[in-house]
Amino acid sequence: MSIIVVGSTAFDDIETPKGKKTRVVGGSCIYFSLAASFLAKPKIVSVVGNDFSKQFFSKLNKKNIETSGLIVKNGKTFSWGGKYKSVSEDPETKFTNLNVFENFEPFIPKSYYLANKIIFLANIDPDLQNKVLDTVDSKKFIGMDTMNFWILSKRKSLDKAFNRIDLLTINELELGLITKKNSLDKSLKYIFDKYSLKYLIVKKGSAGSLLATKNELFWIPCYPFADMVDPTGAGDSFAGGLFSYLAKSNSITKKNIIKGMIYGSSIASFTIESFGTDKLFKLSKKELGIRFRYLTKMAKII
Ligand code: AMP
Repeated sequence: MSIIVVGSTAFDDIETPKGKKTRVVGGSCIYFSLAASFLAKPKIVSVVGNDFSKQFFSKLNKKNIETSGLIVKNGKTFSWGGKYKSVSEDPETKFTNLNVFENFEPFIPKSYYLANKIIFLANIDPDLQNKVLDTVDSKKFIGMDTMNFWILSKRKSLDKAFNRIDLLTINELELGLITKKNSLDKSLKYIFDKYSLKYLIVKKGSAGSLLATKNELFWIPCYPFADMVDPTGAGDSFAGGLFSYLAKSNSITKKNIIKGMIYGSSIASFTIESFGTDKLFKLSKKELGIRFRYLTKMAKII
């Protein structure tokens, strides 16, 4: 089964207590698709500039990732700089250069719809997320992510998108920014009263993640022994793991979403053990399976 993912492809400058790296290839759809590639065929819709390495395309293709919708445009690739004061905190954004994303018109190649039931709108300008939603069939299961940058600058467009999707993943701080409520119960009420989405996933870093529906709440732990080096891409990898699990399942049910969240947490625990995507490229199915089974056991109450 394939997953169409629309999102950013980036050069990241990252600083964490474990070190500093510049021009690391990243971006929401890169982390998402690498994480999703173990169980599904990710198909990327994104844009890079002509400063982006052609070799990286082949590295993605070798991982069973389709890149015909990853367009090369004249200009510079999107770039982002982030500094983590501690590995458990959100980063301070140092710069965001949209570059080739400024005039990007997302286009989903026809071939992408083959064996496809899921579309993920990874973190990117919500105007672009809406443009994609204008073109896709409403029977698809649609997931979406966003971040503080867009919540603060394009709230109207985000509100529109939130009413057109099935599942939203955001972190705890972003939830507070959206709802302006100071408690979880008030925030959840705000989301489910205002938007038509069915599932909300709140990422809580080392405290795991929550799945909320209008009437229920579930908690999923995160792998506790990861050797944290660089948290960049943890959220995108979590989503890639989760959505690939759903693409592989016969039906999208609450139970499968919970299992998929455990799978996504297992992958994210590897992403953070190196700068950029290094660990994701090297990760084996066997290593991943060990953490997935460990976390599944941990998530059982008795
Ligand atoms: P996360 O999973 O939240 O750590 O996402 C990290 C990725 O988000 C980095 O590789 C960045 O390139 C990308 N990113 C940062 N800011 C933005 C933005 N405003 N729009 C899209 N992607 C971004």
